Amino acid sequence: MSRFSEHRLLIAILGIPVLLSVGLPLLADLNALPLPAVGALMLGTVALPFVLLHILSWTPWVERIVPILHRDLPGTTGGQSNGLRIVLDPEYTARWFLEHELEHTRRTWRWTFLGKWVIKQSERGRIWWEAVAYAAGVNAGRPLDEAARAMSGHRYDFDVTEDEARAAISRHL
Ligand SMILES: [Zn+2]
Repeated sequence: MSRFSEHRLLIAILGIPVLLSVGLPLLADLNALPLPAVGALMLGTVALPFVLLHILSWTPWVERIVPILHRDLPGTTGGQSNGLRIVLDPEYTARWFLEHELEHTRRTWRWTFLGKWVIKQSERGRIWWEAVAYAAGVNAGRPLDEAARAMSGHRYDFDVTEDEARAAISRHL
């Protein structure tokens, strides 16, 4: 599957509510429907892409769907992800860097973006968010000590020592 079609797949998933919200009123006279039905229809339309992404997050498809771009990322730990795309620094070629960002993507889809925002409101949540991603990297072959060093050494919006980072990552191995 080419990169281009991967982008198209994600756009299709997220574009469904737009198409439905434009198409449904054309197909059905919403005024003829009872108000709760219209409400349920609109809610379902908005919720659909999030439900689809949530379901996909449990499948190996995440890697095939999310666009993965390569460009220099100075001052990062090698990658970035926001749930809609992954950016990897070409210098960070080890598989575990991609696994880290894929785990962030999976969790973002699973928690439907809004849940991610809620989780990241607390320091405990932010530490957990990174620990599960570092654990995915360790499961892909990254040495635990190296992962703990990276997690404690990078300037995240939380403070953990190397020992605390190692313990947090270990909980998810
Ligand atoms: Zn991360």
